[in-house]
Amino acid sequence: MGASTLLITGNLDTIAQMSCNPAIGGLAKGQIVREIDALGGEMGLNTDLTGIQFRLLNESKGMAVQSPRAQCDKKAYQFRMKQVLEAQPGLQLFQAQVTGLLYEAGRVVGCRTNLDIEFRGRTMVLTTGTFLKGLMHIGRNKNEGGRLGDFSARTLSDSLREGGIELGRFKTGTPARVLGRSLDFTRMQEQPGDARPTFFAFHDTRPDTGLFHMEHWAAGNRLGWLPGSSPLSCWMTYTTDETAAIVRENLHRSAMYSGEIKGVGPRYCPSFEDKIVRFADKPRHLLFLEPEGRTTDEYYINGLSTSLPFEVQEKMIRSVPGLEHAVIMRPAYAVEYDYAPPTQLSPSLESKVVGGLFFAGQINGTSGYEEAACQGLVAGVNAVNCVRGLPPLVIGRHEGYTGVLIDDLVTKGTTEPYRMFTSRAEHRLLLNHGSAELRLLPHIRQHGLVAPDRLARIEAKAQSISRWVAELEKTRPAGSSATWADLIRQSAAREGAGILDGEGSAALPLPEAFAREGEPVRLEVLYRVSYAGYLQRELRQIEKLSELEKVRIPADLDYKAIRGLRIESAQKLASIKPFTLGQAGRISGVSPADVSILMVHIEARRQRQASSSGGGAA
Ligand SMILES: Cc1cc2nc3c(=O)[nH]c(=O)nc-3n(C[C@H](O)[C@H](O)[C@H](O)COP(=O)(O)OP(=O)(O)OC[C@H]3O[C@@H](n4cnc5c(N)ncnc54)[C@H](O)[C@@H]3O)c2cc1C
Repeated sequence: MGASTLLITGNLDTIAQMSCNPAIGGLAKGQIVREIDALGGEMGLNTDLTGIQFRLLNESKGMAVQSPRAQCDKKAYQFRMKQVLEAQPGLQLFQAQVTGLLYEAGRVVGCRTNLDIEFRGRTMVLTTGTFLKGLMHIGRNKNEGGRLGDFSARTLSDSLREGGIELGRFKTGTPARVLGRSLDFTRMQEQPGDARPTFFAFHDTRPDTGLFHMEHWAAGNRLGWLPGSSPLSCWMTYTTDETAAIVRENLHRSAMYSGEIKGVGPRYCPSFEDKIVRFADKPRHLLFLEPEGRTTDEYYINGLSTSLPFEVQEKMIRSVPGLEHAVIMRPAYAVEYDYAPPTQLSPSLESKVVGGLFFAGQINGTSGYEEAACQGLVAGVNAVNCVRGLPPLVIGRHEGYTGVLIDDLVTKGTTEPYRMFTSRAEHRLLLNHGSAELRLLPHIRQHGLVAPDRLARIEAKAQSISRWVAELEKTRPAGSSATWADLIRQSAAREGAGILDGEGSAALPLPEAFAREGEPVRLEVLYRVSYAGYLQRELRQIEKLSELEKVRIPADLDYKAIRGLRIESAQKLASIKPFTLGQAGRISGVSPADVSILMVHIEARRQRQASSSGGGAA
């Protein structure tokens, strides 16, 4: 967006370091990465260029629920992202720990650092991850830090409280990393990647992106790999009765169960001891051994996150087939950290208390790289819009998982680390991963998020898709009474996902000119035609709801003084301060009747104000 920006980080060498497993995407998260790419973000491209295994999840199911996922080379991912930041015009990088914020007249105006250097700026995006008063636990052992080997931001929390920001405490955890050559892969089941990788970036509309050195041949030597080539496998194995018994015997020594950890952890991504307690009748649990890179022999044990003491971890790991002689390189641990309950934010991710201060990522109570990245992008765009006095970027719930995520956070808040699921989106049929650029096109255009040549390519793609949908709906193959679209729908009903062949084309013959279109256009047209009835129903619903989204709620509304509004609703509304009637209706505990009362009140107030200012006729 051309804004002059400073990025301060405690350690430049850990930019884009993946704290947990080096995997990007997955159900609902894969859609978010494609949205980030559509909005001009880097995550998708970085994953494509540093990925070592690609899989399309739910491939055998309908296109609506398919999501790309990739395992990345952890170091390559980090190095490339740092290089991209270094090359970004207008962006300066600086290594220091931020120790406090500078406030003036209810706004943030800069920050202090541990180097006694102060920085001034007009807006700030705070993305502290798990570092605010970060405390790591391995059994009784405690170490300060946001991540193993990293620092803890000790004083920033107090500075935030001084500014009027409330904080809470959450926790998350990560499994041990083991040495590949100490594992017996013959006792595990191989999980190869897809033969045809599904990339995250919209390569059909991106201009030439200038590849990183690792994808190039240099002087006849291969320095790296081409995107999607020479994939590595992941491996599956299961825990045993013995693993469960070891955990049960030592439960009192787990940092979580002994009361050492006060923060709330994610229910959907439980520690292994949680799984043993909550699913006591399950005889075994699936584990994935995932490579951390091409040039390292470290493996991540997906599914075995724990805060048990190290010697217990060792016994647990060695009770698993294939891991009997595993050498642990990094122990599993849990980390507790401060977060700022996100209902303190407006939909632009700006604090409602401190002007110019934006929050994004784990500090908002979320968990996950993709969840953090899409918030960072929106907060960044809005920090610029705030400086320029432009309206904020607010993505609707029907336009993207990014919109669902931010609306959930600022409207409902979260009582545990929030992770995105497809079930959180009420209009998920509209949010297929291939349509991200098309759904977000108005925002891309309005906020100038991609270069003009890419915008032109996205516009052209959108036009081709609309033209082909209309064409297939109205034309018939020679000698047929049904239109092409009817035939596609009949085939979809018969074959389900089988409407597409292995090459991503329709299984039935289609007009020759259509078959010559690029795959992204063909897939989206087939999707829209196959689900036309459902998609139209969704769009009609959204149209109805959009009336409520258009009604702005005055910021100074005194909810307690509104007659007929229940006390509980008035309190909730006063604390969240929704921006529109639509948002008010999504606050838990606020009923449709409350929304109607609010609507009548706002309209009456508007009419009173119009008549008192003499503008009634207008
Ligand atoms: C142990 C652990 C396990 C996890 N497990 C999972 C998981 O299973 N699944 C999942 O999806 N996600 C998991 N995550 C979460 C995932 O790593 C985060 O959600 C994601 O990285 C958050 O991104 P972020 O940008 O908000 O913060 P981070 O990636 O944590 O980055 C924060 C950055 O801010 C810098 N920083 C912090 N404070 C300061 C300061 N005061 N001054 C200067 N710089 C500062 C840090 O140096 C760091 O670079 C885990 C995280 C951890 C730590």
